Amino acid sequence: MFDAHAHLESVPEVGTGWIVPGVDLDSAPLAARLAQDPRVEAGIGLHPWYVPPVADLPAQLELLEQAIEARRPCAIGETGLDRTWRAKPRKREQRAAFEAQIAIARRLELPLIIHCVRAHGACLERLADFPHGGMVHDFGGPMEMLGPWVEAGFYLSISTRNLGLESVVAAIPSERLLIETDDAGPERLPEVAAAVAAARGVSVEEIAAITESNARRLFSC
Ligand SMILES: [Zn+2]
Repeated sequence: MFDAHAHLESVPEVGTGWIVPGVDLDSAPLAARLAQDPRVEAGIGLHPWYVPPVADLPAQLELLEQAIEARRPCAIGETGLDRTWRAKPRKREQRAAFEAQIAIARRLELPLIIHCVRAHGACLERLADFPHGGMVHDFGGPMEMLGPWVEAGFYLSISTRNLGLESVVAAIPSERLLIETDDAGPERLPEVAAAVAAARGVSVEEIAAITESNARRLFSC
């Protein structure tokens, strides 16, 4: 099974592939080290929770861009917008960081790993005409945003947190479906696959096969 979004500390023994997202500059070296394993691909990005104060943002974005140029990740991210309490005070910085990372992804023709909480409209607004697609990780709705994300060329990824949302899980088009463990631990991927299979009325093997081929197509791996 292919885990489309896993915050790994080491490479698990069982599994066919993992996308390890970046969350800030400090996380990039570990992700790069993990990606020496041919089954692992790394992203590099600045997660909305970790955007610095506005005064430090230009310097951080420059370092981020240098790391991306040097390491050529499979995707840019995690990036996006988060309007929950944890990230709220940095609204302006989040927007600037997101826009800068979209520009880098455009220039390097890379997909995006999107972290989006209560900001789907605002994220999509900035992604109009973005040609390289990406994934919305940990997608738990709202249902009415599913169509716009698909239309914009994005894949939707189900994590352990979304397993009860059966109508959302069932509504994602097969060719855009991904599964992930995020920070829950990579050993939980079979549980995610089983719940997704049950919600969609198909076999676990089928979910494993389509989500792996989707991830390999999106991340060119
Ligand atoms: Zn994550």
